[in-house]
Amino acid sequence: MLSIIVPCYNEEATLPLFVAAVEQVNETMQEPLEYIFINDGSTDKTLTVIKSLYQKYPEKVRFLSFSRNFGKEAALYAGLKSAQGELVTVMDADLQDPPELLPDMVHLIRQGEYDCIGTRRTDREGEPKIRSFFAKTFYRLVNRIGQTEMVDGARDFRMMTRQMVDAVLELTEYNRFSKGIFSWVGFKTKYLSYENRERAAGETSWSFWSLFKYSIDGIVNFSEAPLNIASIIGGIACVGSVVALLFIVIRALLFGDPTAGWPSLVSILLFVSGMQLLCIGIIGKYIGKIFLETKRRPIYLIKETEKDIEERKTIQN
Ligand code: UDP
Ligand code: MG
Repeated sequence: MLSIIVPCYNEEATLPLFVAAVEQVNETMQEPLEYIFINDGSTDKTLTVIKSLYQKYPEKVRFLSFSRNFGKEAALYAGLKSAQGELVTVMDADLQDPPELLPDMVHLIRQGEYDCIGTRRTDREGEPKIRSFFAKTFYRLVNRIGQTEMVDGARDFRMMTRQMVDAVLELTEYNRFSKGIFSWVGFKTKYLSYENRERAAGETSWSFWSLFKYSIDGIVNFSEAPLNIASIIGGIACVGSVVALLFIVIRALLFGDPTAGWPSLVSILLFVSGMQLLCIGIIGKYIGKIFLETKRRPIYLIKETEKDIEERKTIQN
């Protein structure tokens, strides 16, 4: 069986299109499917739409509805946890992840050479230029300073074997950065490329600012390099100050000491204290992560699933 995990946040407009598209693709594939929709605290009628899909396909639709918005990462984790298929796919609801790739992915993964078939966009068509620039910079940076490789343009859209899903589920951290986690667990991944697509309907839930914060999370969760910034800057400052001191002493001995240099002193002071604050801020970021991690809070809370509907039915009878 193939499980398809779909995190949904305000996707009332796209969900029916999504299921129709996948069903159409599956007519040629004839694979037993299981849809797992995760309603991530949507504020529109997403849950109603999911329930009507459940009425329509009760044997293959399952859903989890969160008690509030926990974010896509939490939704993915919840979906992976409840998936029963021996192949598991993660897909967005907005049809930016083309279902036409599914037959190829199933075919490739069944050959047994790969444990995971990922997808990547070859271009960033239809995306603001500035966003593409920052995305590229992020991947360059994170691959240079982190040990976990992240592929530029790789989507969360991927198909995994049961073995890899179980491995991903063993990472129970609270601060989840899926792109990093999928890469960290290892296994053999093949990437299929496709051209970028626009959303079928609805709106993206990512603002520029939220993406920026997400990228910082990506770095902090998978690299300790920023923590070394303080030591590096401190080292450079030490060496620099010794050189400067020698220079000043020698100059005073040779040419006397006309008192000057107040502005340069203030600039240096400001620069050094700024650096100190920056480094404390970086350390604070990691401590914040540790703080949240030590609380061991659940990654998500479920309010309702399809089992509740069944239960209600049996009570009524
Ligand atoms: N999503 C979610 N919780 C959130 C934000 C997004 O489950 O808090 C889902 C959303 O419904 C969609 C997927 O994550 O299925 C990707 O979101 P979106 O299309 O907004 O992101 P983009 O494709 O622009 O990166
Ligand atoms: Mg999208």
